[in-house]
Amino acid sequence: MQGLRDLLQQTQQRGVAIGHFNISDLVLLKAVVAAARELDVPVIVGASQGERDFMGVHEIAALVKSLREESGVSIFLNADHTHSLAKAEEAAKAGFDAVVFDLSALPIEENVRQTKEAVVALKAIHPPILIEGEIGDIGTGSEIHETMIDVSKGLTTPEEAKQFVAATGIDILAPAVGNMHGMSASMVRGEARKHLDIERIAEIKKATRVPLTLHGGSGTEGDDFRKAIAAGINIVHINTELRVAWRESLEASLGKQPGEVVPYKILPPVIEAVKEVVLSRLRLFNGEGLAAQRVELESAAE
Ligand SMILES: [Zn+2]
Repeated sequence: MQGLRDLLQQTQQRGVAIGHFNISDLVLLKAVVAAARELDVPVIVGASQGERDFMGVHEIAALVKSLREESGVSIFLNADHTHSLAKAEEAAKAGFDAVVFDLSALPIEENVRQTKEAVVALKAIHPPILIEGEIGDIGTGSEIHETMIDVSKGLTTPEEAKQFVAATGIDILAPAVGNMHGMSASMVRGEARKHLDIERIAEIKKATRVPLTLHGGSGTEGDDFRKAIAAGINIVHINTELRVAWRESLEASLGKQPGEVVPYKILPPVIEAVKEVVLSRLRLFNGEGLAAQRVELESAAE
């Protein structure tokens, strides 16, 4: 399997992005892998600290390894939002391909100092591992929020992005560009959408020249995704949309089979429902409508 670093380079050249989907059980993992397999595209499986605590760091690594071998698809494993070096080291030792070392809640000087140390420490444990750093405010919980906070407050500037990348030696940057973790109830109902600061993405890309990740992609307007990828986003994170599909389809399946207690009879429709969400996002990130978007951006730049 090709390494994640090379693959990111290629996506940049081809103007596509790799889909990153969080999992916290086998149902979600099977759905993500089935979708990637159907489209024959690479995918990143993400597990945050909470998701890893629930499933087990080594158990997730073992499951992904066996699915990777069996499916023939490039499946990468990312330790999403890791807030301490000890937790990041645990993932590096388990063979994760990437770590999101997220100290964005700390003052910037402290974020720089500790992220720089983590890059050195984690690469000493697992040399091919890619370290993603984060600055700016993109919220925390991938869940349904009563109201979404004002994203315009904590946006990343191109200058601080450039300084942060140079000072820490990170491989990937997660900027705040209008994205936000979680979805509002109106987004779940399809009445509202997130909008991204495309110009800012292009400026951050120009200033840093590193792969960029878009966190909190759930509920984002499809056209904004296309523009963001054309402007330099290489990885897109989707979590809440999968969790919503997981819960709604689980309730529907239980409702349809009131006396059923057999998990393998209750859960297949849940895998199918989550897989559909992953399929539609992967199609979008891997080219559906992207070529037209590039032409549009290029002609706008002329
Ligand atoms: Zn995130």
